Amino acid sequence: MTDTSLSAQSASRSCVPDPVIGAQPVLSVRNLSKVYKTGHRALKEISLDIHKGEIFALLGPNGAGKTTLISIICGLVNASNGTVTVAGQDTVVDYRAARSRIGLVPQELTTDAFETVWDTTSFSRGLFGKPANPAHIEKVLRALSLWEKKDARIRTLSGGMKRRVLIAKALAHEPEVLFLDEPSAGVDVELRRDMWELVRRLREEGTTIILTTHYIEEAEEMADRVGVIRRGELILVEDKVELMRKLGQKRLTMDLAAPLAALPPTIAAHGVKLEEGGQQLTYIYDTRMERSPGAAIAALLATLSAEGIIFDDLHTEQSSLEDIFVSLVRPAP
Ligand code: ATP
Repeated sequence: MTDTSLSAQSASRSCVPDPVIGAQPVLSVRNLSKVYKTGHRALKEISLDIHKGEIFALLGPNGAGKTTLISIICGLVNASNGTVTVAGQDTVVDYRAARSRIGLVPQELTTDAFETVWDTTSFSRGLFGKPANPAHIEKVLRALSLWEKKDARIRTLSGGMKRRVLIAKALAHEPEVLFLDEPSAGVDVELRRDMWELVRRLREEGTTIILTTHYIEEAEEMADRVGVIRRGELILVEDKVELMRKLGQKRLTMDLAAPLAALPPTIAAHGVKLEEGGQQLTYIYDTRMERSPGAAIAALLATLSAEGIIFDDLHTEQSSLEDIFVSLVRPAP
């Protein structure tokens, strides 16, 4: 770490103490709101701390406000209210210093078609006032499988390669925080896999990653913490594993020894469903239920036994983050 970042961190330590971990967050968003000129309120009082070295996934449906939030943090859009600090530096007051700590991989391709891969990536580094470092640019291009294409003009590259160039540009100035806005949108499986691998490697080197996505698998695969944004409000921020534990539903499946034509009312009363042409009973239960799931399952098994229903096999599955997400963003009935 450079002297500058050390002094920035110590200077800001008193500003916003982290209530949970006690360490200075690398990114701190406070009471951020955005009302566009159209009168649309895209963000409502967002507050969020991101810690060094974590992978944070911001999940939300179309139009939830993800891009607006990233754009404000990166200084591309002005907030109507609130503040953002990166390593303690305010993104408005200390714009250049704060911005130089951030790398942004935008959703849309915004590269100069006539430049070469090498030139455009090196130029991006220069934009942030960093001295030339060909060894770093080479490392980035190699990590993104772009080294063979370093002298190719951008316009000659495939869509996937162009996307890699955007990532290379974002990494050229060695940012501490990397934003990936919808990294998997329109990307093939191979690039997605490479990107995930690169993200993990960057995290190991201490880079903080924030990604926005509609792809639940991406959050589930990658994130340490997940934030869910809906209609401009951050409705949930949670450790991914904790989120699964707290909100996850479980499905208990029982394969019946003999198929049932209909479910006896005593069993239906437990909320069980008959599926697979009468061959299977499924019971979805909430791990948050007041009565312990164990007691509810024991009661169900006792009823099955009383009804003389025998099963061959029984297994449980944790529901995916996708189910949790869908249940969170589904409009209230
Ligand atoms: P997506 O996943 O579709 O990119 P998002 O979560 O990134 O969506 P935003 O692009 O931040 O959402 O948009 C949030 C809301 O603000 C949307 O209703 C959008 O129509 C509106 N919006 C975005 N940019 C502008 C603008 N420049 N002027 C007016 N309204 C805007």
